[in-house]
Amino acid sequence: MGRLIAISNRTAADPSARAGGLAVAVWESLTSTGGMWFGWSGNIVKGEPGPPEHITDEGVDFVVTDFTEAEHDGFYLQYANRVIWPVFHYRVDLAHFGDTDFEAYEKVNKRIADMVVPHLEKGDSVWVHDYHFLLMGDFLRKGGWDGPIGFFLHIPFPSPEVFRALPEHEQIARAMCEFDVLGFQSENDRSNFVQFLVRSCDGVDEGDGWISVFGRRIRANAYPIGIEAESFAKLAVGQRAKTAATRIGKFLGGRKLVLGVDRMDYSKGLPQRFEAVGKMFDNFPSTRGRVSFTQIAPPSRSKVEEYQDLRVQLDELAGRINGDYGDLDWIPLRYLARSYDRKELAGLYRIASVCLVTPLRDGMNLVAKEFVMAQDPDDPGVLILSQFAGAAEQLSDTLIVNPHDRYHVAETIYKALEMPLEERQERWEKLRRTVVEQDISWWRQKFLDDLDVDTC
Ligand code: ADP
Repeated sequence: MGRLIAISNRTAADPSARAGGLAVAVWESLTSTGGMWFGWSGNIVKGEPGPPEHITDEGVDFVVTDFTEAEHDGFYLQYANRVIWPVFHYRVDLAHFGDTDFEAYEKVNKRIADMVVPHLEKGDSVWVHDYHFLLMGDFLRKGGWDGPIGFFLHIPFPSPEVFRALPEHEQIARAMCEFDVLGFQSENDRSNFVQFLVRSCDGVDEGDGWISVFGRRIRANAYPIGIEAESFAKLAVGQRAKTAATRIGKFLGGRKLVLGVDRMDYSKGLPQRFEAVGKMFDNFPSTRGRVSFTQIAPPSRSKVEEYQDLRVQLDELAGRINGDYGDLDWIPLRYLARSYDRKELAGLYRIASVCLVTPLRDGMNLVAKEFVMAQDPDDPGVLILSQFAGAAEQLSDTLIVNPHDRYHVAETIYKALEMPLEERQERWEKLRRTVVEQDISWWRQKFLDDLDVDTC
């Protein structure tokens, strides 16, 4: 049985980082194959970074490197987060195409590849994660590795037209075709990638995920990422969850809760969501005084500038909506710009009547799946999901909306609040089944089977 070698920007070298589903899934595959995990240490150093640090834990070898200030800026903050992130989320207007950032991105991909190659042995399989390392396959090949390499993109892959806006798209596409198996969150993303290869690179779609392109035969499939479904359901009935639910219950004072939980990012459609909530109070007066919307949105550190603009916009909208509709004993809309423990979030999901997951574009959206698993089977809440979230392909039994259509979203929130118990239960049961069946272990297994990795 060969080892699995993972490469991602952040690793789970710090045991506290193993709390998230993805980290757990990768971690478990590595412990069962005696694997290695390469990435960034999280430290930024002045001058040249020293040799990579080796940490061994439960049979997994972590090899992590510090970044120089120039690497952290050019590779991470600029090219990964201010070029690829916005373009892949269809926000070309927000991309900052600097002169030297791609070079920094290439150099870091190469430096990490050079760090990995000497450790690779015959029989190993490499699993690269996410938009930070789109060039990794190419540099691993150039370093002499000809064994299997899988790649999973956690964010969307844009339509060919949008992808072409990326000045370096040809080089990136060619490099991506050095991977053997490419995993996307949704069929839509997969088909965008394949269409690009077929139209612009003379690729041939052979069916069943196989594509011939640049003299290679590669596979591209959708592997929608899941959550640790059963354990999340348990969190929702734990003590921390109950305490959080009681605390927000005091604020609600018997009113229904409409909830949003997102990182504060422009891809999440927060201003549009706030406006839709305002429209609901406008168009459905019976909701006034009976419903409160709470948005939890901690700032994301990697996108400071855009966050500042968004924050100003949300402050203004919240002020206006509360000014227009609020009353002496009622705050219609509030947002909390901070993060909460997963156990607390689980309790908030459970007490919510409606969860608004309305990103303008999202690779998957795990909040939607967490909300489903946190529900009380006797009185489940209703999920309202954007058609532009990858999760909409799997969770089509819920209420699906176009997040740009404020009127329709407002109407849908009202419909969700009024939905009879029987319909709520019927819909929820279907969603629950999908989230449980297609959980994080299912996702990992499906991907690694295609990469031919035996993790049993
Ligand atoms: P993204 O990866 O783009 O942030 P996802 O919805 O796929 O979006 O994943 C977000 C994860 O972060 C979920 O597991 C969710 O529970 C967590 N999260 C989101 N907002 C908060 C918050 N305010 N506090 C703590 N965790 C959060």
